[in-house]
Parts: sequence; structure tokens; C-alpha cells
Amino acid sequence: MGKPHRLRRLEDLARAVAYRQALIRHEYWSRTKLEELQKRRLAELLNWTTQRSPFYRELCSRFRMSKPYALQDFPIMNKKTYMEYFDEIVTDPRLRLSQLKEHMAHVAGDEYYLGEYRVLTTAGSSGQKTVIVFNRKEWSIQEAASMRIASMMGVIPFSTRRPKIVTIGSPSPLHDSYRLPLSMDIGLYRYHVLPATAPIDELVQRLNLLQPYILRGFPSMLGLLVTEQLQGRLHISPCIVAGGGEPLSKELRKQLQAVWQSSVFDIYGTQEGLRAMECNLGEGMHIFEDLGIVEVVDEDNCPVPDGNLGHKILFTSLFSFTQPVIRYEISDMMVLAAEPCSCGLPFRRILAINGRNDDVLYLPGRKGGQVAVHPVHFWDVLESFASIRQYQVVHEADSICLRLMFEKGNGDIVCSVREQLTQKLHSLGVRCPSIHVELVTTLEDRSRNMGKWKNIVSNVNQAVR
Ligand SMILES: [Zn+2]
Repeated sequence: MGKPHRLRRLEDLARAVAYRQALIRHEYWSRTKLEELQKRRLAELLNWTTQRSPFYRELCSRFRMSKPYALQDFPIMNKKTYMEYFDEIVTDPRLRLSQLKEHMAHVAGDEYYLGEYRVLTTAGSSGQKTVIVFNRKEWSIQEAASMRIASMMGVIPFSTRRPKIVTIGSPSPLHDSYRLPLSMDIGLYRYHVLPATAPIDELVQRLNLLQPYILRGFPSMLGLLVTEQLQGRLHISPCIVAGGGEPLSKELRKQLQAVWQSSVFDIYGTQEGLRAMECNLGEGMHIFEDLGIVEVVDEDNCPVPDGNLGHKILFTSLFSFTQPVIRYEISDMMVLAAEPCSCGLPFRRILAINGRNDDVLYLPGRKGGQVAVHPVHFWDVLESFASIRQYQVVHEADSICLRLMFEKGNGDIVCSVREQLTQKLHSLGVRCPSIHVELVTTLEDRSRNMGKWKNIVSNVNQAVR
């Protein structure tokens, strides 16, 4: 303790600036050199974890694991188990989930826990909240990754202009989209965070005043703002627009580029520390593989070759030593590119994220049983209608309701949407349920899930699989 809070935050940021230099060097490495680094860091992580984490120590002795450890020998960790064994998994015995929850209930800004930890939680859109703890050094790495994202967009820290970055994100300091800018707001950039849960009129008013150079937000929110601009209420001209947290459709990307003449980037990130982002070529998001390992696997946890769609991913963080994240299940269904990117970065690319496996709907099949309907099928049908700003598929016991946020004056699309979706479901072997299409002009309450929009909602118990 002792040191003033601001000074410690500055130390964290100074460390981040040094880490950023190292991260940038990795961008010029060959794939082989990067893989050597991953191997070295993984060995350090697994050695540390098997000594310091009671959970992994016990596992190691029970299965008589010995050095050198192989990642594939470690168990796959789902969110539920991860939280159940939280107290045993962490490597600092002072960290106890019950006490962290008490701390979380009172966090209002960038406070440290026990003078050295920052605590985050996930939005819990998949029903299970997780708690993630970073020590100060680990947080500096998060900050450095955030600076890498800024520099991949063409923004350099310490530049005289100090570009104004406005993020419309979660309103909670327990979420990294809010916490990272907050912790870094000591001079490198000019950061502003507006809550995605605020009424749109208020956001428009604040954006008009702020005039962001970079605008970041959930794509569903960016879609709304483009409409506000087109309708003459919003007057901004961001040079860079970045989406993340939800899929960014081709249509929306085109609109953002056309309306603001800005460069558009898609960013992927999880609270556990996985980050990926597009390079200028815009042909997939490069995974920051110097900070983590991603395994794309099928439903049975078998590896899926690059170029094919996986059922989920397993993420191992190479920098989280306080709270090890090892083969941690993330329900995003991804395709990784089989070929390296022509930009020269050694990091593999996520070509597509086709929703989350918990967004898969199970509908009755024409030949009995159930058919798994992947979110991408709804996406395919609805994305072809340019006038649909946003959609939500609500699955009820005997019907499917499509709630479409629709730009007025674009004719009647209800019939053609219904027709195309019926055809699509038929081609998938589904006994077609009744489909209701509802056109809406305003959004529902976004306060759930920390401002994130959920495209697929099921009100049916999907226990049978
Ligand atoms: Zn690239």
C-alpha cells in the first residue's frame, strides 16, 4: 500500500508501454519463432500452475503427470467447473470467490483488490457468470494488448494529437470494455466511455459534443448510430470505426464505410484475455497468439483442421499466472484461415464466427427427432435484406418469432422474409414451425448482458440434445 493510487496506475501503464514494444516486435517474427515463444511460455505457465494452484497440483499428482507437460494432458475446463473450483484454481490463496463477489458489489472505478488485483466478470449471456482476476503485471499486458489494437488501427500513443477514442460499451467497471479505457485514461489517448444502456437520444447528444476520432461499440449499436446520422440527428465523422462483442455483418460494414468514409475494423475479445483483430486487409481477425493459444475443436473435443467450422474453442492464456486459464471452453463457433495472411503477421486468423453453440436452436425434424439449427442460417436469410438494422429470433414452444428492426419506407419485407426462412428451414429437414415476423422501430431494454444484444433467444427448454 502506501503509494497513491494514481501513481500505481501510472506504473502499470509505464510497464504496458514497455510490453507494447515487445508485442510489436513479435509482429515481425516468423511463424516458427512465434511457436517457439508459445512453447516456452506454455512450459512456464504449466510449471508454475502445477506448483502453485492446489487444483492443478492435485491433478498432477493424481494422474502422475510429469515434466515436460503437454497441454493436451490438461482437462478441458467449462465455465461451471471453473467457477466451482475457483478457490483451488487460483495461485494466490488470499483470493476467495465469496470475498471477490463482495468486492465486486462495491467497485465503482478502477480500484485494486488487496492493493494489486483488478477483478472483472463476464456478461453471462450464456447463463454462467465468471470472475476473472488479473494482478498488476497481467493487467499491464492487457493494456499493452489494447495499445496494440489502437496501433493496428493506426493510432500511436504519445502522438501530439492524442486522438479522442469513444467507446460505447458496458456501463460496468467489471467489464474490460469499460475498465481498460478507465485504467489507461492518464494521458496517452483521450478516452471516453459511454454506456450502451443509455437512451439513444442521450448517446447522440454526447457524441455530437465529443466528436470522436475513433468510435468503438457493439455492431448493433453502430447500426443504430448510422441510422441516426442518416436521419440527420447525429453529426459525427469518425475516421476509424471498430465493432466488437457481436458479429459485424458485411452490410453494416458497407454502411459504416459509406456514411462516415471511415476505416472499419472488427475486433474480438473475451474477458479471459483472448484478443483478435483485423489487419488493414480486412480478411479475418488475427489472434494475438503471443498471448494465448486457441484450439478449435468439435463437439467431442477433437481438433478441427483450419478452414473448417468448429463447435467451440479452447483458450489457454499465456499470461495469466494468478488465475490460470487453461483449455477454457468458449462457445463461439469459429473457422480459422488455413493460409497465412498476406500482410505478413505471423498470427493465425479467425475467418468467421458463426454464432455461439448455445445459440443453436433444436427444432422438430420432418422425419422425427430434432434438427440442430445453427444461428448462421438465420443470419444468412436476414443479412440479405439491407433494410434490416438488427434482428432477434425468439424461439417459442410452437413457433418462431422474428423481431426485425426495420428502416421505415423500405416496402413490405414480411412476406419475403417468412418465405425465405421457411425455405431455409425446409432445406435443413425441419418440420416448419409457424413463423411470426414482427417489425419494430425501437430496441428492447439493453440493460441485460451489460448492453450486449442477443440475436437468438430461446424460451424453450432445450435439455434434449
Ligand atoms: Zn493480416
